[in-house]
Amino acid sequence: MDFKTLPNNLHEEVSCSVCMTTFTDPKTLPCLHSFCLHCLETILRTSGRHDIITCPECRRENRVPGSGNLKDLPTNFRINSLLDVLAIKECNTTAVQCGNCDNRSAQSCYCFQCCVFWCNNCIIGHNIIRANKEHRVLALTDFKEGDFENVLKRPAFCQKKHHKKDELKFFCKICKTPICNACALTDHEGHAKMLLEEAANERKLQMKSVIESQKKQVQQQKNKITNIDQTCIQIQEHAAGVKRNAQKFAEAVICVIQAKKRKICFEVENQAAESIQRLVTQKSEIENQVQVNESELEQAETLLERSTSAEIV
Ligand SMILES: [Zn+2]
Ligand SMILES: [Zn+2]
Ligand SMILES: [Zn+2]
Ligand SMILES: [Zn+2]
Ligand SMILES: [Zn+2]
Ligand SMILES: [Zn+2]
Repeated sequence: MDFKTLPNNLHEEVSCSVCMTTFTDPKTLPCLHSFCLHCLETILRTSGRHDIITCPECRRENRVPGSGNLKDLPTNFRINSLLDVLAIKECNTTAVQCGNCDNRSAQSCYCFQCCVFWCNNCIIGHNIIRANKEHRVLALTDFKEGDFENVLKRPAFCQKKHHKKDELKFFCKICKTPICNACALTDHEGHAKMLLEEAANERKLQMKSVIESQKKQVQQQKNKITNIDQTCIQIQEHAAGVKRNAQKFAEAVICVIQAKKRKICFEVENQAAESIQRLVTQKSEIENQVQVNESELEQAETLLERSTSAEIV
């Protein structure tokens, strides 16, 4: 993401995913997701825990700052800049809040050095102060594309009370937080510090190496997925081969059994036909004898009926 370019989905970028409205006091959790301070406070209050806050976006459990106060989470300066860009773009329809008197007015200007909005009353006071003579002040209605980029490029300011105009220039190595000149001389006196720019460069290098190692890890995981896919294909191919062999074996066994069956049937039919043939011959022989015997009987009976006693004897 290029820091300087204006996003196309400006409204989306400045909407809190918890309350679904534009951010108020956007704070960034260690997981790098940002939410309104009041949204995070509600989540923490209702969670029943005081040291851990679960990110509503990624569900990661983040440590609450040591102070126990969510106000001490880092402010998302980019969102704050984008909120101001949106306010300038929509100044014709929505009045802009003065950074000095909190009044809302459609006719306001923006000072690129103070990095705040000034209403038409307060800007007179701003311009009278000698130290502000060099400040570039622009009416919101006169903003051009390049001017929005200057709003985004503005430095980050300390969020502590009474430090609001102090740029965050240093990084406290003990508290691991960006601090202003005033912080450096009070809360962080005696702490090891470095220029914010240098700390950012160090952090960039660290992040690059983390990104590199994560890329490697992702590549390894992708390789593992490819291996698993290949193994699955091999298992499927092996199973198909075993099934084909089983099918062939079964078909061969069935062939043998059927041949055996045909042979048995053939033999049994032959044997039966032979036996029946034998019995049919026997039967016709007996039938012939029966015929002979019956005609002899007939003759004998006729003789008995018709002949005289002398003939019979
Ligand atoms: Zn919110
Ligand atoms: Zn998160
Ligand atoms: Zn004002
Ligand atoms: Zn100014
Ligand atoms: Zn400060
Ligand atoms: Zn410190």
